[in-house]
Amino acid sequence: MTDDSAKGFGPRTQAVHHGTRRSQYGEMAEAIFMTQGFVYDSAEQAEKRFQGTGPDEFIYARYGNPTSRMFEDRIAALEGTEDAFATASGMAAVNGALFSMCSAGDHIVAARALFGSCLYVLDLLQRFGVQISYVDGTDLDQWQAAIRPGTKAVFFESVSNPTLEIIDIQAVSDLAHAVGALVVVDNVFATPVFSKAVQQGADVVVYSATKHIDGGGRALAGVICGTRQFIREVAEPYLKHTGGAISPFHSWLMLNGLTTMELRVRAQADSALAIAKALQGHPRLARVIYPGLTDHAQHELAMRQMGSGGTMIAIDMHEGKAAAFAALDKLRIIKISNNLGDAKSIVTHPATTTHQRLTDEVKAQLGITPGLLRISIGLEDTQDLIEDLTRALDA
Ligand SMILES: *Cc1c(COP(=O)(O)O)cnc(C)c1O
Repeated sequence: MTDDSAKGFGPRTQAVHHGTRRSQYGEMAEAIFMTQGFVYDSAEQAEKRFQGTGPDEFIYARYGNPTSRMFEDRIAALEGTEDAFATASGMAAVNGALFSMCSAGDHIVAARALFGSCLYVLDLLQRFGVQISYVDGTDLDQWQAAIRPGTKAVFFESVSNPTLEIIDIQAVSDLAHAVGALVVVDNVFATPVFSKAVQQGADVVVYSATKHIDGGGRALAGVICGTRQFIREVAEPYLKHTGGAISPFHSWLMLNGLTTMELRVRAQADSALAIAKALQGHPRLARVIYPGLTDHAQHELAMRQMGSGGTMIAIDMHEGKAAAFAALDKLRIIKISNNLGDAKSIVTHPATTTHQRLTDEVKAQLGITPGLLRISIGLEDTQDLIEDLTRALDA
């Protein structure tokens, strides 16, 4: 096999070429190595492989696979980390990153506004004797008060779901590193395109590749990015023995996704800004939440941290659930669903779907009002999306 390194080139060049491994056939497109195992030339070679595999050596698909390795190398180059480990889903990545580093008695500080399944993983850690302190992620005083000598890690989503609050990666990392804690960032809403998380202090960055990396809503996948030591000595042993392995076919889909991710995500973010501006001041909306708008509470931080407002918008309808449902049912282009980062625009009513399980009190605390709608902006014509939304809101 030969390696195609694009290290040192720009992100688009890396997204197209980096990490490609070609077999003896010299295939142009990345091959799907749809194989569970690998054949050894001799018993001695098998013995040697099991003693430790090199970067081009594989023994079993749960441990690693050439197609998956291409995806890992490419996303690591784009994220600016030494290495990466691909997983079956975003949650396998979150679970893998946190469980692999923790033991009973450890302490984690986490932002309260987290994806529901991330909260479940933290509850599980608690059951196994890890202490969790929750903070309002936007309040640095709360981080400072909760992080203590011996804290093992901090964990947060850099842009919170669904209310799009921005957490200051650099400031939280400074507090965490002062006590030697690792900074684990779920960076899905920021996307790898706008992420500078590692430059800003993150030690481990996790993605649900199901979202912008796939970009077409086709397959589940996840990835953990970090130092070679963390990925290969901490995360990989946990993942390869507990079974969170990605399918080579899904790795291949994600490689294809990475090729066009930068173009897609930038177009989606440009569209999101135009749509947020067009909706601002609409009489039926109490709020238009978009980090790219100057009236967003953390607009400056968003620009410093990501250089963009991203691809997600939240709008809050004055008249609550009935009005939100009526508007959803009037949409013709934007689909009612719960994925994000797709080429197709998607709208979600968090209070009754993704965040249904939360009590009314917690919903209120997180700003998840009955009229809140979360919109993932896709690749359709911006004007069509603006008309779709205004038609639905005006109805
Ligand atoms: C979707 C998502 C996940 C989980 O990813 P899956 O691929 O669905 O397992 C985790 N965190 C965030 C912020 C997400 O949006």
